Amino acid sequence: MKRDYYEVLGVSKNADIDEIKKTYRKLAMQYHPDQNPGNKEAEEKFKEAAEAYSVLSDSDKRRKYDQFGHADTGSGGFQFDPNQFADFQDLFGSDIFANLFGGLFGDVFGGRRRSSDGRERGSDLQIELRLPFKDAVFGVDEKEIEIPRLEACGSCSGSGCASGTHPVVCPQCHGSGQVVMRQSFFHVTVPCSRCQGKGKTIQSPCSECRGEGRLQNKSKVRFKIPAGIDSGQRLRLLGEGTAGRSGGGNGDLYIAFNVERDSLYERDGIDLHRILEVPWPLLVLGGDFPVETLYGQENLKIPAGTQGSQKMRIANAGVPRLKGNGRGDLVLHVSVIVPKKLTNEQESSVRQLLESMAPSVKTEEVSLFSKLLSGDKSKKKKKKQ
Ligand SMILES: [Zn+2]
Ligand SMILES: [Zn+2]
Repeated sequence: MKRDYYEVLGVSKNADIDEIKKTYRKLAMQYHPDQNPGNKEAEEKFKEAAEAYSVLSDSDKRRKYDQFGHADTGSGGFQFDPNQFADFQDLFGSDIFANLFGGLFGDVFGGRRRSSDGRERGSDLQIELRLPFKDAVFGVDEKEIEIPRLEACGSCSGSGCASGTHPVVCPQCHGSGQVVMRQSFFHVTVPCSRCQGKGKTIQSPCSECRGEGRLQNKSKVRFKIPAGIDSGQRLRLLGEGTAGRSGGGNGDLYIAFNVERDSLYERDGIDLHRILEVPWPLLVLGGDFPVETLYGQENLKIPAGTQGSQKMRIANAGVPRLKGNGRGDLVLHVSVIVPKKLTNEQESSVRQLLESMAPSVKTEEVSLFSKLLSGDKSKKKKKKQ
């Protein structure tokens, strides 16, 4: 007997479409063949849930099902149409769709990733690469990393056959790679279990890879990191992913960058920011000030009367543009240096300056004032008085 669709999804008869989607998504993840390799029961549950979802998510089919039950949800049976699953992309998001449901079309319902002669493109891989700040700014001519991946077996060149032998036509599906399964109203074409949809079987498997044609390996990959790369950006290395099967092409390898922070510079796209400490008389009078940049020393012209919170820019001392020429700016955030110790001469000059600017303030008062403010002890003393 066929189970009730609501029971299959574990929702009530009044469940709305959002609840149905949510519950189905959970079940599909749980029973997906990629998560349960070789588990027939999980595969059946997966198909059962997919069937229930295809009916309950369609308001017209759902109404008919509510009225007549299993007897009238289709013309005599339920046929899987891979195109019907286009809305999976909407349901699961495009990334999960690519990773998880590449397997769905290829392995359960046949088609798409695996071609009729059993050729299958290898899956794409992605690794995250932490990159020191300066490597990201200047780029690296040749970076080498080691990645674990499935590679074509060297002994049989990926054919899976022992040397001197060849694959033969599968006796179960006669080379088509597919068989039709029937369960009451439910007809579905699935890849042949004998040859896993390849249409051919290997009689004397390669001893190295046991007929799989691929082996888990660790390989060094070399590539160039362009100057100006930033966190969140990816490089795609064609054909450096998982090896294909039976002559199918390799997948690609994506390098996702994670750039480390720097103690001095803060990066904002192609601009760099840093604090620039300047002695206060120079801000008052203006003048030249040498500044170290990533590209060598620059002479910064500080205008007279520059304020402590002001920003100044050195053009072209930032991060190179990934596409195109030139670089961003170095933005300097001015911070005032106030000396803690002065010589007698300096102190008298400053006092003179202060008196000239604020004639009403007596220097004795100033020094008394600064004593009162200089520490907690003096504050407390004042309160007691
Ligand atoms: Zn082999
Ligand atoms: Zn077969």
